[in-house]
Amino acid sequence: MNTKSIEYIDKLSREHTLSLEEYTYLIQHQDAAIQEYCAHKASRVARSIYGKDIFVRGLIEFSNICKNDCLYCGIRKSSPCSRYRLDKEDILACCQEGYELGFRTFVLQSGEDGYFTDERLCDIVSNIHQSYPDCAITLSVGQRSKESYQKLFEAGANRYLLRHETANPQHYQKLHPKAMHFEDRMQCIQDLRDIGYDVGIGMMVGSPFQTEKDLAMDCKFIETFRPEMCGIGPFIPSHQTPFKDYPAGSVETTLFLLSIIRLIQPNILLPATTALGTLDPKGREKGVLAGANVVMPNLSPVSVRRKYQLYDNKICIGDESGQCRHCLERRMESIQYHVVTDIGQIRPWKEGDEYESK
Ligand code: SF4
Repeated sequence: MNTKSIEYIDKLSREHTLSLEEYTYLIQHQDAAIQEYCAHKASRVARSIYGKDIFVRGLIEFSNICKNDCLYCGIRKSSPCSRYRLDKEDILACCQEGYELGFRTFVLQSGEDGYFTDERLCDIVSNIHQSYPDCAITLSVGQRSKESYQKLFEAGANRYLLRHETANPQHYQKLHPKAMHFEDRMQCIQDLRDIGYDVGIGMMVGSPFQTEKDLAMDCKFIETFRPEMCGIGPFIPSHQTPFKDYPAGSVETTLFLLSIIRLIQPNILLPATTALGTLDPKGREKGVLAGANVVMPNLSPVSVRRKYQLYDNKICIGDESGQCRHCLERRMESIQYHVVTDIGQIRPWKEGDEYESK
């Protein structure tokens, strides 16, 4: 085995930090043995904090209408895909079904759809909050003003997912149209943190033009920002986008990054994403064995699932919510993990905990 890589992984386990050069080296020199070594350490760390519990989030994709034109996204403004928008009653019905199935976190996700003004979205959020006070409400609705984030927070949303996409401003510009700016994205992420949300960031692995150094910059950003959540998945091309001919990202590198992120921040909430399961039939199980501790079954009505295709061949678009949940339960049981009915809060961890020996 590459002794330098082993040395860096051991150092990361102990100190939770590496230099940009060390991260770059690790990513450049990964092989199956190193990936396995890192996954073993990462899954042990995750188990010491979360046991064999896997948190579930009920994902409600409530609108695929978006004013933006991100070059990698299947529902971008220029995409000819068929559009839909759920109304408040539809969304509340999804929550009710989800609650009965044991979900205690709802993730409301959409494109940047101007129809959902602060007033409309706050109304939906406060309705969910009043109906299910024991549940967390996560929003994933893109960039908005700080005032808007504040109103939504006061209405009852307490978590927010906004992938940073890449920590390299030059790379960001290659993935987005000129009208979108890296600095604005970062400002939104900081605003969310300042307001008091639990913040989820994340990136695609293997996106066009991405280098190993870009991924190392992502690791440094995670190290310094310390998000509560981090969603990463392999890039998968969509035929509706300018990136349709680019190759998909690597499952192995995504799994390796999951392990690295777990070692950077032992208690982070780390989903084994649908994109992983799309590229590999056992992708989500492998994600958990690499250090992930969250899965996100789909609660959206089956009638609209097919229309929320950020990338091609997305899985789970035909299953009812209950089927999705039970399928994931079985998958987790198959690797001796258990989906739990729990709000799924980040658990405390502090430097110096003897986590590895537990
Ligand atoms: S990635 Fe998000 S903001 Fe960009 S086009 Fe897709 S839905 Fe819109």
